[in-house]
Amino acid sequence: MLAENMVALGKRRSTIREIFEYGNSRAAEVGRENVFDFSIGNPNVPAPESVRQAILDIAAGDPVAAHGYTSAQGDAAVRGELAASINRRFGSDYTGDCLYLTAGAAAALSVTFKALTCPGDEFIVFAPFFPEYQCFIESGAGAKCVVVPPSVADFQINFEELDKCLNEKTKALVINSPCNPSGVVYSEQTICRLAQVLNEKSKEYGHPIYLISDEPYREIVYDGAEVPFVPHYYMDTIVCYSYSKSLSLPGERIGYVLVPPQAADSADLYAAICGAGRVLGYVCAPSMFQRVAARCAAETADIRIYRENRDLLFEGLTKMGYSCVKPEGAFYLFPQSLEADDRAFCERAKQYDLLLVPGTDFGAPGHVRISYCVHTETIRRALPLFAKLAADYAEIQ
Ligand code: PLP
Repeated sequence: MLAENMVALGKRRSTIREIFEYGNSRAAEVGRENVFDFSIGNPNVPAPESVRQAILDIAAGDPVAAHGYTSAQGDAAVRGELAASINRRFGSDYTGDCLYLTAGAAAALSVTFKALTCPGDEFIVFAPFFPEYQCFIESGAGAKCVVVPPSVADFQINFEELDKCLNEKTKALVINSPCNPSGVVYSEQTICRLAQVLNEKSKEYGHPIYLISDEPYREIVYDGAEVPFVPHYYMDTIVCYSYSKSLSLPGERIGYVLVPPQAADSADLYAAICGAGRVLGYVCAPSMFQRVAARCAAETADIRIYRENRDLLFEGLTKMGYSCVKPEGAFYLFPQSLEADDRAFCERAKQYDLLLVPGTDFGAPGHVRISYCVHTETIRRALPLFAKLAADYAEIQ
């Protein structure tokens, strides 16, 4: 007898992985250059040169320090440096003891959900959302995942729908700005209104409602867009951060949980996060990349390439009649599909070797995600195919 839910999860590959694998097999048939794979959010911009230099320096130094275990919460000196870097940027006064280093944002989220969950608890996510939230919340932590339907006009928070989802069982909300998959950045107004709602509801229910801010795309913004630093607006915030996208290091698995001392029960919350990390067997975050992150925290990969891609794709598609909220960050576009059934639309797109992900997977049917962390040339060559796809629909109507 095995854990049936785990067997089912292991057998059911995510749609994104499914499409990615399809793309690989299709590439073997027609050539890689003829498959336009917009399915996966794997940064195509290389890590900054300073990352390579840091790796070389660390590898040339003391091998025990480079590769050994660190404290479970991460090396104390590294945590101190990362806290100082956060303080310089946001004018905060955190110490290294507010940080718990993790194997990327995925681990940061998993330990946070596990640390917070008591029997009967509910977590709220906002559609469109990163599909793994549901897996971490339900199958990982054993809590209920409640989805707030989207506000499709701008993909800011739909407060009327949020109001219907909040109740005394709500333990925390998850926000993700800049957002995967919409690319939308929550405005300061949205964050202020959310903080007000949560303060009122925490008071009404007699317990804190935490706000988990999942921020792997924090630095990937365009046109001077400002990403509000959420702990400045709402005290009971927990930040889950990752260097996967900002430093183009997704395979190296490095990130952190920030537990601000102002958050309710912060000392016990931090202890619970350490406990959850232990239960989940994380031991410590990758040792070498803890040190790389400390050295390179102030830098980012060259995001100008993503901006060029966004502009090319957004302008190209909207001119053809696709309807899309202009993304201010991350590297995704989330247009409406040209038929209500987004899965059928993705199947039709496949006929042109355009690989897109149905919005249904993100809790927002009628849309598709286009991941534009690809070569700019790929987008240039794909645009005429998007035009043909649109022409097919013009003919059908
Ligand atoms: N959160 C969001 C919104 C993401 O898009 C991703 C990865 O794509 C993650 C979390 C997990 O990132 P990491 O590689 O840091 O685990």
